[in-house]
Amino acid sequence: MTKLLVLGGRFAGLTAAYTAKRLLGDKVDVTLVNKTPYAAFRPGMPHVSIGVFKAEDLEVDLGTALPKKGISFIQGTVDKVDAKAKKVDYLDTSGAKQTLDYDYLVIAFGAKLGVEHLKGWDKYGNSVCEPEFATALHKKLENFKGGNIAIGSGVFYQGSLKQKGNYPDNWSAKAESACEGPVFELSIMIPAYLKKKGVMDKTHITIFSPGEEILTDIGKGSRGVVKNLYASQGFDMAWNFKLSEFREHEIVDETGKTIKADLAIVLPPYECNDAVKNSTPDLFDDGGFVLTDDHMKSIKYDNIYACGDANQITVPKLGFLAVQTAKIAMEDLANRLGVKTEIDTYNPEVVCIADNPLENMAIGVEDNTLYGGDKQVADPSSINHVKKELFTKYFMWTDGDMALEKYLGSW
Ligand SMILES: Cc1cc2nc3c(=O)[nH]c(=O)nc-3n(C[C@H](O)[C@H](O)[C@H](O)COP(=O)(O)OP(=O)(O)OC[C@H]3O[C@@H](n4cnc5c(N)ncnc54)[C@H](O)[C@@H]3O)c2cc1C
Repeated sequence: MTKLLVLGGRFAGLTAAYTAKRLLGDKVDVTLVNKTPYAAFRPGMPHVSIGVFKAEDLEVDLGTALPKKGISFIQGTVDKVDAKAKKVDYLDTSGAKQTLDYDYLVIAFGAKLGVEHLKGWDKYGNSVCEPEFATALHKKLENFKGGNIAIGSGVFYQGSLKQKGNYPDNWSAKAESACEGPVFELSIMIPAYLKKKGVMDKTHITIFSPGEEILTDIGKGSRGVVKNLYASQGFDMAWNFKLSEFREHEIVDETGKTIKADLAIVLPPYECNDAVKNSTPDLFDDGGFVLTDDHMKSIKYDNIYACGDANQITVPKLGFLAVQTAKIAMEDLANRLGVKTEIDTYNPEVVCIADNPLENMAIGVEDNTLYGGDKQVADPSSINHVKKELFTKYFMWTDGDMALEKYLGSW
């Protein structure tokens, strides 16, 4: 039986494993390696920070979920992909090195949150990007009595990729921030939480971005609406602010500029996964993201696919694109293994919902201007909040199997 090894078990890895099994059944033996025993639903982590969910409400237990669908699960941390020898080294839960071989490989281990680039992170840093960060922030917000809050994004270490856009000729886009959707979501959610708590009138908020303004991955019209919203709420805005340090009452950028912050909440810098440094170098671009064609197949090793945040192609780094790329990859594999399957066309666009659960509304964003399109939707409505709620339930109910996401889930 053909051996398919999947590295990573969140949106991209889960979609790849489930789709491969669904399309190929007994023709393929699927094993998934993930460093944690669970897959956390990342789009719900901002909600954890304001107490709408607990982190454990949003975790899929991989050791139970995957075997139910005929997929083997190994908890381990991938250390090296040897593309020439078709082997992967990982450290098991005791720290011992183990090796797996494969016929086909899916790299879906995402990007890394580069918190070590931020001086003072351990003492003063806050984020919502992983369950433990979101839970810790919730405790701080519960005790927050007013003061200065800064919300923004770290830089994206993307390599020397040039600004392109315009799919399909030159698709990978350059971005200052890897994913500012969560920043935007927090900028509406946190004020709503503080209002409810009765301390918003004692709080001053600054929104910052490493880009020339916030949300440079969506069109100028939608950005204008966001900036007007911030101005109407009395928020300060700081652009071209490339965060480098947290201090007790301020944050500092690379040029020494400061923003007052008793509480600074950030999307940490994104960079390539740690496993890249030990792996076959020509799998990756100079930023450490995998180079593939539009079927997500490595341009150097045709038995290796890369999906989601680990692939150079996905900009911004979005779950919506992680699922799309993983489906395309496995549709391609199905054809190669003799199961005729229609292969979706990669359609990069920003699709996400910035939720404001405490005020029962959300802003649904659909935008492809980064790729030369003219779609530019930013739609605030209650129904978008309901869609996000349903999507969260859908993810948990299916153990992260996004097969019907096109019909039942909204990002
Ligand atoms: C707070 C937040 C909210 C977001 N909200 C949205 C949203 O609403 N809509 C949207 O479209 N996108 C959203 N995103 C972006 C989205 O979450 C990511 O694009 C998506 O998770 C990428 O999926 P992935 O599977 O490629 O990578 P990841 O989600 O990073 O998953 C990688 C997996 O691999 C594992 N792993 C990492 N390294 C190793 C290793 N060395 N060995 C073994 N396993 C490893 C990790 O534990 C993880 O399970 C959000 C991001 C954040 C941070």
